[in-house]
Amino acid sequence: MNYNPKSLQAEEFISHEEILETLRFADEKKNDRAYIESILEKAKPIYNPNGSLHCGGLNHREASVLLACEIPDLNEKMIKLAEEIKLAFYGNRIVLFAPLYLSNYCVNGCTYCPYHAKNKTIARRKLTQEEIRQEVIALQDMGHKRLALEAGEDPVHNPIEYILESIKTIYSIHHKNGDIRRVNVNIAATTVENYRKLKEAGIGTYILFQETYHKKAYEELHPTGPKHDYRYHTEAMDRAMEGGIDDVGIGVLFGLDKYRYEFAGLLMHAEHLEAVHGVGPHTISVPRLKKADDIDPTQFDNGIDDEIFSKIIACIRIAVPYTGMIISTRESEEVRKKALSMGISQISGASRTSVGGYTDQERPHDTEQFDVSDQRTLDEVVKWLMDLGYIPSFCTACYREGRTGDRFMALCKSGQIQNCCHPNALMTLAEYLTDYASPETGKCGEELIEKELATIPNANRSRIAGEHIKSIYKSNKRDFYF
Ligand code: SF4
Ligand code: SF4
Repeated sequence: MNYNPKSLQAEEFISHEEILETLRFADEKKNDRAYIESILEKAKPIYNPNGSLHCGGLNHREASVLLACEIPDLNEKMIKLAEEIKLAFYGNRIVLFAPLYLSNYCVNGCTYCPYHAKNKTIARRKLTQEEIRQEVIALQDMGHKRLALEAGEDPVHNPIEYILESIKTIYSIHHKNGDIRRVNVNIAATTVENYRKLKEAGIGTYILFQETYHKKAYEELHPTGPKHDYRYHTEAMDRAMEGGIDDVGIGVLFGLDKYRYEFAGLLMHAEHLEAVHGVGPHTISVPRLKKADDIDPTQFDNGIDDEIFSKIIACIRIAVPYTGMIISTRESEEVRKKALSMGISQISGASRTSVGGYTDQERPHDTEQFDVSDQRTLDEVVKWLMDLGYIPSFCTACYREGRTGDRFMALCKSGQIQNCCHPNALMTLAEYLTDYASPETGKCGEELIEKELATIPNANRSRIAGEHIKSIYKSNKRDFYF
């Protein structure tokens, strides 16, 4: 077997043979009670007397056994463990963000995406810098502080210079008390040099979904265009890290190939980044294939139901406890609710998945990348989160404090996250309530902040956060963070 997590060659760190061997191992162990119990024991969080927290995580083989487990009471235990880990590391905070589609011009032939080059029915659009300004003002007026930029791959319409100029435009806009403080970028695999330019432009996370780790399926699903090159795509995160980007976000599009195969591949990718660069992925996203323009998800026969989807989320949470997890508005309110308790730490809110979608009055369908299941406003999502007992957070502090990559991981492991994320969540929520919330959401939020301030372990931090929140309520002072 050619499996080597330290290799820089895609076929070696995502070894097909190792994945098949992992699936065989999982099938052999899926009813082995003693073995599964030992894995669950190993994955439990350990609370040290000095307040720090440790969680060993699991390797792709162990996690694959959990995913395959057929013993009902152990499956329930697994969900409880995921919830415990989620609570230990992320508390009751959920970070909010929105996607911003810059351009749907694309030269690739991805068979599951309506932006594929051969689609002649979809309206093509690329935002000018002035249009980006308008979109960003609309997003700021909703209360968003964190964006994920999306653009198709097209060296003529969307060259790197266009992306860089757009990032500059976005960071320069300060409408009323609005501010975009972190721009994450989801663009096609590119060169080390271009990643370096993105880093210099001040991006947060570089996000690139693998779509599928199954090489043969990958090549069939991407029949034309530069994305056809499996190796170039799969090795993109190594180039991104070489270019200085140390927060990278990975993910697969569940529904394209067999989910157990993808799950093992995803964790092997995380292990590879850790082995080579000393830091695993910053986030893992779990998109599922959805209907859009000329795409019918029933054409793909690997769809997964909500139950399996939840189990995947729980198993990822247990396997990589320090990695943030993202779910988008592709999923319904009901699915998102369940996913939150099991491990999701970031969600998008009030998303428009079309180019220019935020400035159009009606939700436009003719340029959408996928159907949005959760169509609530940001205010409704914020209120909903609070009603469920979560603190909606607009925090971007780590990136701005230079706590990226391994420095971010050190914070996670230090046990100080509760003294950092928690007050930051409350201060950014106070900004949202003051500047953008409806009266009902505002009232509910202020009560929540009052209650939650008392739960910050460090009394000094709690006092300072309380003072900052008072000045947010009373003045235009903004952007406090630890
Ligand atoms: S998935 Fe991305 S690369 Fe593929 S067609 Fe859609 S926009 Fe283009
Ligand atoms: S303090 Fe850092 S880890 Fe915590 S919510 Fe803010 S950005 Fe995220």
